[in-house]
Amino acid sequence: MGRILPIRARTTKRRPRLGLKAGEAWLQGARQVRSPNCDDRPAGVQPSLIVVHGISLPPGQFGGPHIDELFTNTLNPAGHLYFRDLAGIKVSSHLLIRRNGEVVQYVPLHRRAWHAGKSSFRGRERCNDYSVGIELEGTDNTPYTQAQYGRLATVIRVLRRSLPTLAAAPLVGHSDVAPGRKTDPGPAFDWPHLRQRLAPRTARRR
Ligand SMILES: [Zn+2]
Repeated sequence: MGRILPIRARTTKRRPRLGLKAGEAWLQGARQVRSPNCDDRPAGVQPSLIVVHGISLPPGQFGGPHIDELFTNTLNPAGHLYFRDLAGIKVSSHLLIRRNGEVVQYVPLHRRAWHAGKSSFRGRERCNDYSVGIELEGTDNTPYTQAQYGRLATVIRVLRRSLPTLAAAPLVGHSDVAPGRKTDPGPAFDWPHLRQRLAPRTARRR
């Protein structure tokens, strides 16, 4: 007699398998959109922190091309009232996970992406120097999707397995490293759920 396996509805189409080859800085299985908004990390500094963000452009609207445009300095300031405030701003993140679970990479992992701004973690400033930034498409108050939690957990596992300095990297939100200035990924982000997904399989409740 075989075990009866629970049937889980497939809500998203199958996504490419994510991976990172030794010595590589671009994730396999991620769509690549190269951002010019990056530079070298300080000499000898390796990433040792993972910062989770939330973003949507315009806020609350999902699925458009505007995050790619923001990170590649091609956002049309006339395209939306909100975009005017973003004119001339140069930002990026290493990765974005869209509502449907698609993973986009903008900056190679060994370079410094410009996602955290003025920030500090446990007394150490300039988190961009030593972190990997992961944006989730969303808002502070809209529940993130199961597809996003699933892909985020996979991305984190791949990073921790592939980059020794990230093996025990703390996971924080942008609001944790820039309190008073940033609120993302917001109260909608379910940290216990992410931690449960990252827990070893035997400890995971289903
Ligand atoms: Zn942020």
